[in-house]
Amino acid sequence: MPDAIVIGGGQAGLASVHALTARGLEPVLLEAGDEPVGSWPHYYDSLRLFSPARYSSLPGMAFPGDPDRYPHRDEVIDYLRRYATALDADIRTRQRVTAVTRPDREFRVSTDTGEELTAPIVIAATGAFTSPHRPALPGLDEFTGTILHSSEYREPSPFTGQRVVVVGAANSAVQIAIDLTPHAHVTLATRAPIRYATQKPLGRDVHFWFTVTGFDILPIGPWLRSKPSMLVLDAGGYRAAIDGGAPDQRRLFTAIDGDTLTWPDGTRERVDTIILATGFRPAMPYLDKLGALTDTGLPEQHRGLSTTHPGLGFVGLEWQRSFSSATLRGVGRDAAYLARRLPVALV
Ligand code: FAD
Repeated sequence: MPDAIVIGGGQAGLASVHALTARGLEPVLLEAGDEPVGSWPHYYDSLRLFSPARYSSLPGMAFPGDPDRYPHRDEVIDYLRRYATALDADIRTRQRVTAVTRPDREFRVSTDTGEELTAPIVIAATGAFTSPHRPALPGLDEFTGTILHSSEYREPSPFTGQRVVVVGAANSAVQIAIDLTPHAHVTLATRAPIRYATQKPLGRDVHFWFTVTGFDILPIGPWLRSKPSMLVLDAGGYRAAIDGGAPDQRRLFTAIDGDTLTWPDGTRERVDTIILATGFRPAMPYLDKLGALTDTGLPEQHRGLSTTHPGLGFVGLEWQRSFSSATLRGVGRDAAYLARRLPVALV
């Protein structure tokens, strides 16, 4: 029997294995995909990290190369691949967890290949990518054009010459709209004005300031969530492009009739594609039976520790303990926090 089972082989799961191993435990990691590199291979092709390499490392292995550059998505995949190898842990791929139960003192974890494992500790680290958030927008259900979620967007060529509306006000919405603009007629449609944060205040990357001021570890989730939109980190180019009208930015459409959108000023316009860059919600259907989720499917937890089942923990949830919880730089801190508390289940 392993000491712990970690579900999900992205950065959150790998950081959890690192933290448990550092406590002298022998975990098994179960990953649904072919490789323990998380959802990064599914993110859009032009993606660069919003944090420089020096602020994008998991515990125990520095992100390689120039520490001040903003690594490309593919470099993150390589980094996670090397990180997983260096862990030298029991990582089992092509094992999708279908259910976690607790028939007695231990958890029983079942996978889609029929495997069953038991352990006193389970960490759920499956991210949110499998659960794209599609908000109810006026008339969207009636739209006869193409609707995509940003999770399905890879690169601009399929949209060449199209009229495209990107919905959302956070980093992904802005980046996808700018990515598409040379190829399509693009509008970025937002409920609230976009709020920018300077990437390099006083000449240093904002992550430097987050670190030296302690902002990165503050439990300010509820305060940040109360804001009408997330901050978009901008080195200058995004705001200049949008203020210059490429892409065009408008308030959200008010109605849809077939393939025609109505804008707040009453004008109507035919649109080929709507891309919803409207975020994700955690989805852990494998915890349904256990009774560890709220009615809306969210984990019942406080600072990553299950409030229903001792021995169960979560890593990688947004705002789990701090502003940086669901990022490369922050996930290791949360994993170490759990690894110090969950082993109580072993005694
Ligand atoms: P994931 O990467 O989603 O990994 C979860 C893993 O769990 C996957 O490998 C999946 O296959 C597996 N899994 C799912 N269900 C099961 C199951 N039932 N059984 C077994 N395995 C399962 N963060 C930064 O720090 N810097 C950035 O610049 C940055 N940019 C981002 C850009 C985009 C477009 C997005 C969407 C996110 C970005 N993030 C960034 C946020 C965050 O770092 C990533 O979303 C990251 O992939 C989250 O890691 P994770 O391990 O929590 O989840």
